[in-house]
Amino acid sequence: MPASETRKNLLRHLPKVDQVLASPEVASLRGRVPILLIKAAVREEIDRTRQMIQAGGITDPAEFTGDVVARRAADRALKGNMPSLRRVINATGVVIHTNLGRSPLPDSAIRQVAMAASGYSTLEYDLEAGKRGSRDDLIEGLLCRVTGAEAATVVNNNAAAVMLVLNTLASGRGAVVSRGELVEIGGSFRIPDVMAASGARLVEVGTTNRTRVEDYRKAIGEDIALLLKVHTSNYRIVGFAEEAEIRDLVELGREKKIPVMVDLGSGCLIDMRVLGLSHQEPTVSDVLDSGVDVVTFSGDKLLGGPQAGIIVGRSDTLERIRKSPMKRALRVGKLTLSALEAVLKAYLEPETAVDRIPTLRMIAADRKAIGQRARRFASRLADLPVRVSLMAGKSKVGGGALPLEELPTVLIALEADGLSAQDLEARLRGQEPPVVGRIVGDRLCLDLRTVPSRELGELERAIRGAVLNAET
Ligand SMILES: *Cc1c(COP(=O)(O)O)cnc(C)c1O
Repeated sequence: MPASETRKNLLRHLPKVDQVLASPEVASLRGRVPILLIKAAVREEIDRTRQMIQAGGITDPAEFTGDVVARRAADRALKGNMPSLRRVINATGVVIHTNLGRSPLPDSAIRQVAMAASGYSTLEYDLEAGKRGSRDDLIEGLLCRVTGAEAATVVNNNAAAVMLVLNTLASGRGAVVSRGELVEIGGSFRIPDVMAASGARLVEVGTTNRTRVEDYRKAIGEDIALLLKVHTSNYRIVGFAEEAEIRDLVELGREKKIPVMVDLGSGCLIDMRVLGLSHQEPTVSDVLDSGVDVVTFSGDKLLGGPQAGIIVGRSDTLERIRKSPMKRALRVGKLTLSALEAVLKAYLEPETAVDRIPTLRMIAADRKAIGQRARRFASRLADLPVRVSLMAGKSKVGGGALPLEELPTVLIALEADGLSAQDLEARLRGQEPPVVGRIVGDRLCLDLRTVPSRELGELERAIRGAVLNAET
């Protein structure tokens, strides 16, 4: 029989959509997986099988009985029904991991978000007056309290905050920035590009490694609307380097009647020494104290809250920013506002703030405590066919904050016979919930700094699954 005849014959054995849908395996998904996803998965699986037959990849009808196709279709439907934004266990030790969603929220913030999400709220409603209120009022008082600012507002993220301030204060005019501060944060945030999109003209001064206040002064011609200082966040210029002091820029700005803006990036609210860090960063209040007109920073970096861009500063400057039509386009929703409010409240109790805000708690965790947890956890893996060892390592703050700060930690290194570190890493990513670790040398390493105790059971199960090769 010619090959085309054989294929036609085989295609006659292909199960029908209704038959697969009625199979126990697929029928049992009803109620758990939306019907349209189930039907699509069944059709896709039958189509795939048909193509395999036509391409000569399947020659035996036993390989595509109704049962076999049903099992594959059910798998496909279950996979397709997983949320695309999935929870993962972050065992990388990078605390503010931008690819993994930056800061996990404190419990108080999670409760506030659930409250705001589940019903109506006073988002823009003044209960006392019984009429329309402003969403900015919900959070402005708190922001002023924790930063010492006169006025404050919140937008979608810090990139939006920078864009909005530049657009409001310097659109069609010049903004002066040091060549040493033309940063790229990643994810397409580059100061020159943001500046161009905002309508402000970039006026570069100084050199990559050295910029003095005199350089700014020389650049001030007729059409300069703003002096901008940008925190270099994810890099440092070391060696023969110099930058203008914020205080000196403020003095120059006052003399020339030009506002001064600082994009702090991460923007911390508390003294970093409380977290046991060696590098000192100016807090938002420190920067405001030096007389700067407006400061922008992220909500989900060192602050430890939801994605947001926070703008604080002088009342008259904030008033102009609030009136911009761009502000309306960049504003945040009720879920962000309620989460941010809860996180900011935690800062009002300085004794417990570090403990209650997960990002700060994880940064502050010391090597000894992590080592004890790692040892206890390692003993739970004793029966597995893996070599488990503990080794000294470094965690990272991440999020472009404090790039030079290396947090001493204890890593759990795993080695399994017949599996490369890359294999093991990939298998851990394939578990549910997926585990993201990192490879150091030729070993897969897990850093418990970023794994809260309540996730250790799942982490253990994932390692078992990965080592014993049981996909979950
Ligand atoms: C991170 C960062 C930004 C961008 O903030 P997002 O909240 O990620 O939008 C802008 N400027 C600086 C200096 C930063 O470090």
